[in-house]
Formats: sequence, C-alpha cells, structure tokens
Amino acid sequence: MIKNRPKHAPITQFPIKDHCLVIGGIPLTRLAQRVGSTPFYAYDRQLMTERVHALKHHLPSGVLLHYAMKANPMPAVVQHLAGLVDGIDVASAGEMKVALDAGVAPKDISFAGPGKSRQELACAIAAGIIINVESEQELETIAQLAHETSFHPTVAIRVNPDFELKSSGMKMGGGSKQFGIDAERVPAVLQRVAQLKLDLEGLHIFSGSQNLKIEAIQEAHEKTLQLGLQLVASSPAPIRTINIGGGFGVPYFPGEMPLDLAIVGANLERLLATTPAPPNIRFVIELGRYIVAEAGVYVCRVLEKKLSRGQIFLITNGGLHHHLAASGNFGQVIRKNYPVAVANKMNSTKTETVSVVGPLCTPLDLLADQMELPKAEPGDLIAVFQSGAYGLTASPVSFLSHPTPLEVLV
Ligand SMILES: *Cc1c(COP(=O)(O)O)cnc(C)c1O
Repeated sequence: MIKNRPKHAPITQFPIKDHCLVIGGIPLTRLAQRVGSTPFYAYDRQLMTERVHALKHHLPSGVLLHYAMKANPMPAVVQHLAGLVDGIDVASAGEMKVALDAGVAPKDISFAGPGKSRQELACAIAAGIIINVESEQELETIAQLAHETSFHPTVAIRVNPDFELKSSGMKMGGGSKQFGIDAERVPAVLQRVAQLKLDLEGLHIFSGSQNLKIEAIQEAHEKTLQLGLQLVASSPAPIRTINIGGGFGVPYFPGEMPLDLAIVGANLERLLATTPAPPNIRFVIELGRYIVAEAGVYVCRVLEKKLSRGQIFLITNGGLHHHLAASGNFGQVIRKNYPVAVANKMNSTKTETVSVVGPLCTPLDLLADQMELPKAEPGDLIAVFQSGAYGLTASPVSFLSHPTPLEVLV
C-alpha cells in the first residue's frame, strides 16, 4: 500500500447492525430478500428528508428550493420530495408527467433543456408549467403554439452567463454553450417576450454541477446575482423569480470532503442582504444530486472470485450497464473509485485488495479498481455508495441485454 494515499470521506449516513449495512431501517441482506433479486438500487427516504431539512435550515429564509428530478426520476422519490421542496425542475415531457402525477402544482414545475420538441412544448403549455426558454427560436415556437391555442404560456429565460462555474465537475454555462441564451442577447429577448405578450416568470441561470468548493460556489452566486439583477433592470415586464442554479456537489472520490452547508448558506445570506434587489423578487435554488445522491446505494452480488496473475477479481452481477457513473464512464477523465463496501461484512478487519467487476464483455465494466475491502466470497453483497443520483437512468441498461435492476425507496 502506498502511504498517505487520499482516502474516501467516511460514509456515515447508514447504520450498521450485526456487520450489515442498514438502509431505511432494514439490513441489506434482508432487503435483498425482500426485493427478490440483485442487483438493485435502494434509496433511504429519511436521508432525503433530512437533506431537504438541512438545506431549508441553512439557506436564507425566502430562498425557494427546487428538486431537479433528472438526478433521480423514480416516481416514488419524486412523490416523496414533492411534499418537501417548493418546486420540481423537469427536463423532458416524460419527467413533467411524473411531476404532475406526484401532485405538484403546474406553477411550481419548470421545464429546462435544449431541443424541446414542438410536441413537448405544446404539452408543457397545456399543462401550464413554466418553460425555461433555451433559445430565441424556442421562444418563437412557444408564441406560435400559444397563438394556435387559447392558452397563455409562462416562460422564464435561461441565461447562458458570461462566466463559468469554477471547479465544477460539469460546466453548463459560460462561453459558447447549447444551454440558454447568451447573456448579452437577453435584454433583446426580454423585449420580445413583452411584444409577444407571454407571461414572464423570470430568469434561470445555471452554470454547472458537482461543485465542492465553497469559494467557487460563493463566486458563482455573486456573479449570478449581479447578472440576474442587471438583466432585471433591462426587462420591460416585471421579473417574479430568479433561479440562481445550484450545482452543490457530494464527495465521491478519495480526498473529497462534503460541503459545509452552514458556510454556503451564510455566504448567500450575506450576499442577498447586501445586494440591492427590487422587492418581491423570489430566488430559487435548484438541486438534484445534493438532495438524493448520498441517500442511495447500488447493490449487487458476488458471483465468483477469480485470481488472475496475482490480482483478485470479484465478479458480480452488477456493472456499468446499471451504474455507468461508478464505472468512471460518465464524464470522468481519470477513473477513480466510488466508495464501495462488502455490505454484509461491514466491520470485518480481514481485508484484501480486489477489483470489483461486472458481467459485461468490456474492461470498462469496473466498479472498484484494486480497492482494499473485507475478504469477500460468492454470495456476499457489494454496495456502491453515493448512488442515489445519476445512477440507473444515466446508464446504458440495454447494453448486453441483462434484466433492468429494480429500485426501492425504503
Ligand atoms: C442537471 C441540472 C440540474 C441538477 O444538477 P445537480 O448537479 O444534479 O444538482 C439543475 N438544473 C439544470 C438546468 C440542470 O440541467
């Protein structure tokens, strides 16, 4: 072992009982029997609730919290969170249906994303949700559709800011982007919104995802607010809401530490208090990953233990077809291990260095690369932590035609 190699931040959100990881109050070995087959995803609803409560506690009062459901669109999860947050952000007509089915009021649903089809826009207009407009052409299509029906669409303008979210795992604003309307074009677009007599909700500025750096988040909040208020001043119609994005990250890899929400919240509170804004403007923060990622585990079973030229492989029935992100193939440049455990041998001190792989015919099908884990045998359960966001629905489930894993919310 190389000394001083960075370690994963300790995973403390799940209790351990008789050496077994406990999810939603149920030992994982028992939950596996209840589910009936492995692999599966298990999400802990209490942890999601606690995360939302922590956000509400630390974010300035009056800042609304939305759940960006593409992080985890399982209907039961969306239903659960719908009762806790102030709104749901959707990225397709399919997600819109789940949010509406969950009972979310249309005025609390916003629909972002480039390339919305005419049909999706028509559905959104009929539903009465807020459409976050991603291009000038989309705005014209919405106006046309409104003209053809008697409905009065509500729009927000997604702004492509003139800055980037530093240290963000995935940059979604700044420079040339397919997302949003370039900030310098937005004043003209706001004039056009007024001309078209569309109902204007406000502005949406989302600059990136998976940020663990407090200073970078603070800087993004500052610049976002500054830009938002500058654009508000250019709008002929009143602006009701500025969605300032989110992008709060969770620790996945060795050396990463959780965000200190108290500091993020205090920084934002100070910023809002010292920035002169017109009265009645509401601020929204939208978060996906931060609300759900740490509440979920992906569970698979060891099928075979194989020794190849001195290296031990735990061959499991789970892999990248279910959990692309843990395999490193969802945007990672240099592959790093997610935190992984042998879920039924949690306190075991007899360890060995193994690689956890899946059943696919590609070396990319790797859940843990040469990791020190308790000695495992066929039948043992492997849990991949931090798996509640961008797991199942962000994975190529059809690749190699294995069955799709189940998901449970416990
Ligand atoms: C994906 C996305 C989010 C959620 O990002 P997280 O990193 O999961 O919090 C929020 N807003 C928009 C516009 C998105 O595209």
